Formats: sequence, structure tokens, C-alpha cells
Amino acid sequence: MTIAFNKLEVRVRLAAIRANYRLLCSRGSRIIGVIKADAYGHGLTEVASALAKEGCDTFAVGTVEEGAVLRRHLAAKGLTSRILVLLGPIEPDDYPPLWEHSLLPLIGSFRQLEALARQAARLGKGLDISLKFDTGMARLGFGAEDLPRLLDRLREAPLVRPVMISSHLATADQPMSVDYLMTQAERFSYALTCLSAAGYTLEANLANSAGILGHPSVHHQSQRAGIALYGANPFAGTAWEHLGRGLAPAMTVRTRIASVHALPKGGCISYGCTYTAERDMRVAIVAVGYADAYSRSLAGKGAQMLIAGRRAPVIGRVCMQLTACDVTEIPDARPGEWATLLGGEGPLAISPEELASWWGSISYEVFCLLGMNRRVYI
Ligand SMILES: *Cc1c(COP(=O)(O)O)cnc(C)c1O
Repeated sequence: MTIAFNKLEVRVRLAAIRANYRLLCSRGSRIIGVIKADAYGHGLTEVASALAKEGCDTFAVGTVEEGAVLRRHLAAKGLTSRILVLLGPIEPDDYPPLWEHSLLPLIGSFRQLEALARQAARLGKGLDISLKFDTGMARLGFGAEDLPRLLDRLREAPLVRPVMISSHLATADQPMSVDYLMTQAERFSYALTCLSAAGYTLEANLANSAGILGHPSVHHQSQRAGIALYGANPFAGTAWEHLGRGLAPAMTVRTRIASVHALPKGGCISYGCTYTAERDMRVAIVAVGYADAYSRSLAGKGAQMLIAGRRAPVIGRVCMQLTACDVTEIPDARPGEWATLLGGEGPLAISPEELASWWGSISYEVFCLLGMNRRVYI
């Protein structure tokens, strides 16, 4: 999905993603590139190509449809990478494309398993799958109590071939929650042990970015890296911040200043007159708003933009396509010049975590939403 017809420019530096991938490879074996949600707003096919050049041979997408798009892209480049589908098949139409595009779905319910077995029998063709276990996220996946029945069902459906086991960590980015992480790791190992004892040879993966960087004890044959590939530090603002040192954000977002004018002392600005000038001011009206996924909730939270190398506070309400900034101290702020919302040059660059904190959110959401705008690759 793309937001069209605005002045926003999302600049993606693929070299940064490649460097982040190399850093992650040095911290954990066999990194699976998680490129769901349009590669966290950085572009599914562009990011896949960049990672493939670094030797990444396994990708994880969200939906079957996303997997089909990726398969076509990779095939055109002569690549036969594995494609994991994290959400697995959800509705009947999701099953046939798994075979058609050689996708490796995460299967976490008997409902999915039965449907898969029926489709396999119909086609007379086997399919590799990953068994997805819920070890504490309480979202998707089999539980330990499902193991006996799961082994029975797998025995009855030999065309469904488990080659992998996956589970997802809920608290890997919280240094205070190591106990919960260890409980998850133990449940995962228990499931893996039972399946191994039943004769299955499975590639196991549990760790996400924070697990890769912070918890070597939960590494298995492969690890699934998302946010760190895009350069956000999952430990930002915690005692473990140093573990993400060296990651470089790949996304910069900028737009144009539409106009600059005076706001006299006592004057108010934007809808609701929520901001009143306490002194004579100069304000820049910047061409971005909530229609461009620059959230209205940024108003009144201390948000800033980077204009002519200086920080400019956002003032008054964020409108649909316009936002006002205080540029009283920035004489170089002029109509037609750039205002940077995320990233930028030098020590005053706006980090994903900083923008997320004003937003009341996390770097993941900042990337996914702003990344819906027109992208350029630099
Ligand atoms: C999104 C996702 C990941 C990646 O997590 P990050 O915290 O971005 O590294 C890994 N595994 C699953 C199942 C996911 O949904």
C-alpha cells in the first residue's frame, strides 16, 4: 500500500540494511530476514534483493499473498530462497498458493493442519512446513498439551512434512524479563525434544532481533531478525542499549516547507487554537500531516523536525496534510526547503526511537506507517 500525491520522500539506504545484516550474522548463526509488512515499510522486493546479495537465503513474510509476490520476484532473479509465511494460511484460498509458490508456512493449529493434509492429498504432493509453538506469547501456535495429538495427526498425513519448529519471544527486549524468556525457551526445547524423539529432524528458530543480540542461550540453528535489520536498537532506552551499538537506521523521511510566516505574540495556531505564541515567532508550515501517517498524536508531545540542521518544535495540532513548526531561531528555514521528520545528518538526527517516543509508540510502527509513503532508494 502506498500513500500517493504528497510531498513526502522516504529515503531507504539499502547499504545500511546490508551492513545491519552482516552485524547480525556476526552475532548469531543463520539469520532469516524478516521482511513482513513490506519489510517494515522499507520495501519487500528491494530489501529481499539487498539481503540476497549478502547471502541471505531464507526470508519470512506475513501472508501467503506477500509470499507469492516475493516468490515471483526471486524467481525472476534466478533465486530459490526459502520463504516462510509467519501467519500461515488463514482462509481456504491461502492453501493452493503454498504449493504453487513453494512457500513454507508456519502451522500452529489442527484446523490448519487438517486443511493442509486434505489439500496435499488432493494434489498428491507433499509440502514442507514449520510447526509453530506457543510458548508464552498466547497468540498463535500449538501448546505442549497438543503434542500427543499432533504426533498422531502428522503420522496420518505423511505428505505434510515438518522441517522446522518456530516460536516467538514476548519479552526478549526487556532486560527485566529474562525469567519469562527462559520459561519460553524451556517450553520450546521441550517441544523440540518430543518431536526429535518421534524421529523428526527440525531446524529450530526462536530468537528475534532482541534474542539474537541479547540472549545467545536461546539461539538455535537459525534466528529470525526483523527490526535490527532496519537499524533500530531493540534495547534502546534500556540498560542493555550497548548490545545494539553499530546498527544504523536505513530510513530517512523528509518533506517540503510550504510557507514561513510571522506569528505575533498572543496569536494562536492550527485547529482548536491549542497553541498560543508567548512571544513574537516565525513559524514554518510543513507539508506533512496525518494523511501521510505523521500521527496527529504527535501534537503537544514535544515532537520536533530537523530544519536547516536545527531542531524545530512542532506546535499546535497536526492537520491532515500540514504541520506547523517553530522556526524563530532558524533563519535559514525557507519555503521549498526540506524538513526532516525521521533521520537526517549529524548529531541532531532524529532517531526512530525518539520519534516513536513522541508518537507514544515504538520504532516498528514508525517504520511501517511512514514507509507507506513514496520511497526512493539511495
Ligand atoms: C516480526 C517477527 C519477527 C521479527 O521480530 P523483530 O523483533 O522485529 O526482530 C520474528 N518472528 C516472528 C514470528 C515475527 O512475527
